[in-house]
Amino acid sequence: MLKTHTCGELRTGHAGQRVTLAGWVNRRREHGGLIFIDLRDRWGITQVVVDASRTPEAHALALRVRGEYVLQVEGVVQVRAPEAVNPDMPTGEIEVQAERITILNPARTPPIEIAGEHEANEEVRMRYRYLDLRRARMQRNLILRHQVTLYIRNFLSERGFVEIETPILFKSTPEGARDYLVPSRLHPGKFYALPQSPQQLKQLLMVAGYERYFQIARCFRDEDQRGDRQPEFTQLDLEMSFVEREDILNLIEELMTRLIEDVSDKRLVTRPFPRLSYAEALERFGTDRPDVRFGLELTDVSDIVARSEFRVFTGTVEAGGKVRALVAPGCAEYSRRQIGELEDIARDAGAKGLATVAVRADGTLRSPLAKFFSEDVMAELIAAVEATPGDLILMVADTPSLVNEALSALRVELARRLNLVDPDEMSFCWILDFPLFEWNEEENRWDPSHHMFTSPRPEDTPLLDTDPGAVLSQQYDLVCNGYEVAGGSIRIHNREIQEKVFALIGLDVEDARERFGHLLDAFEYGAPPHGGIAAGLDRLVMLMAGEPNIREVIAFPKTQRAADLMASAPSEVDPEQLEELHICICLDKKPAGSGKGS
Ligand code: ASP
Repeated sequence: MLKTHTCGELRTGHAGQRVTLAGWVNRRREHGGLIFIDLRDRWGITQVVVDASRTPEAHALALRVRGEYVLQVEGVVQVRAPEAVNPDMPTGEIEVQAERITILNPARTPPIEIAGEHEANEEVRMRYRYLDLRRARMQRNLILRHQVTLYIRNFLSERGFVEIETPILFKSTPEGARDYLVPSRLHPGKFYALPQSPQQLKQLLMVAGYERYFQIARCFRDEDQRGDRQPEFTQLDLEMSFVEREDILNLIEELMTRLIEDVSDKRLVTRPFPRLSYAEALERFGTDRPDVRFGLELTDVSDIVARSEFRVFTGTVEAGGKVRALVAPGCAEYSRRQIGELEDIARDAGAKGLATVAVRADGTLRSPLAKFFSEDVMAELIAAVEATPGDLILMVADTPSLVNEALSALRVELARRLNLVDPDEMSFCWILDFPLFEWNEEENRWDPSHHMFTSPRPEDTPLLDTDPGAVLSQQYDLVCNGYEVAGGSIRIHNREIQEKVFALIGLDVEDARERFGHLLDAFEYGAPPHGGIAAGLDRLVMLMAGEPNIREVIAFPKTQRAADLMASAPSEVDPEQLEELHICICLDKKPAGSGKGS
């Protein structure tokens, strides 16, 4: 090794020892005949002193050194004078008196400030990702990620799980997004699909008798990017045989609890994790991904406002829509501009507008709607939403899904404005009893809410024939701080039910055989009852690291436009490569629209 110690390791106990350190120049300062170099490596920073009068040669060299030069320093550890102690640095009580310095490599001035707090813009960070990753924050994040995966591996191995790799070159695995395709050279005109998840393969491993499988699996989905999405991402994927829903929930709950407690510095708020049905989550929070660190629950006021004279409300209710309300505590004196900002959020979520009633501290009301409400109906409204003097009532009228979308967005915004969330809290909840299907208006058929291998609740199976929309499933989602962090289900292991589900989602027997014949066949050779779950590792680490975006916890992420700016991917390829793959490029067609996310 070119070093005897790390830059984070030396303490007063090492005083007098001769050591060799190697790392990058974090900062360099000149002080008369002394040069101070803060030498940095992954483990920390150590101050090196170079004294012109003692080691003129090293001093002459240190004069040439600049930020991010790679140095090797030989010297002796000495205790700093009391006035020079830096209590903010773990190594702040010592320094290394340099005797010999070797420049292992010089460095150009980096386009990213590595030592300081100044954040470069996103594009520069992506282009020079290797420099961005040199920063303490990013190193902390990637090391945390490593600790999380290591913890998960140990936790599951101790419980009899086996980690098994599944192929990346595979066949389309439906998770509701668009596939990434890989052309086959040996099979002209045919393609592999990169897995959207190892779903079918892990089910096949259950048929194969492994009983407890897991994998830290890379998944690929070609969909439009958002803050917490990437075209390739990592899941903790697992599957178990002979289990019921309760077994999976308990296992994951224990894993998450121990993980947060042992590996992160976040606080876990509620244990056991609250369980909400999908219907209850929508009713109370307007979303199946509720942030339950704060209240601000929604109230349905359709029946009350239907008795007002306000046409927007009465018309909506008559047409089968909903009017729902959210109370912004203490916001009665919001200015026109502030209310306008809230209205913009509602509109961005698709609402046509936002109605407000301010219940002022003196009990009087300020509302454009007041003239359409009798005193009684208004009093009933205020009582129903439990508004007290000083509060602002926000109401949206539309189809139930638009109302929920707008109000759940407002709920999150209000929590932010009112400082209702403690960033150090992690608050989980389970969402259960999802409908098995969603109606697809455009295609005039049912879509699976989770994926097509999800089992209906046993008591609902007869409804598959009579009322598919009413069938609830054995799907479960785990939500943390408003993010879906895991999702899974007990699977169908019976061929007859699987075929019924295929039929309902518009896959005829031929299609189903073509796409999933291997799975259907496997189900005839003794498939055990099984179920599983997948947790988004990137999101989980993002929350544990307190980062706002999964790009901050992925070493080499893609941009919002799915590009790698550092390596310039995607890129053109040689014509010979295309020829080998039997591919002609035809660029005059417009690119297709975005895929549906799952
Ligand atoms: N394959 C599912 C997903 O990727 C997870 C599961 O059902 O286990 O979301």
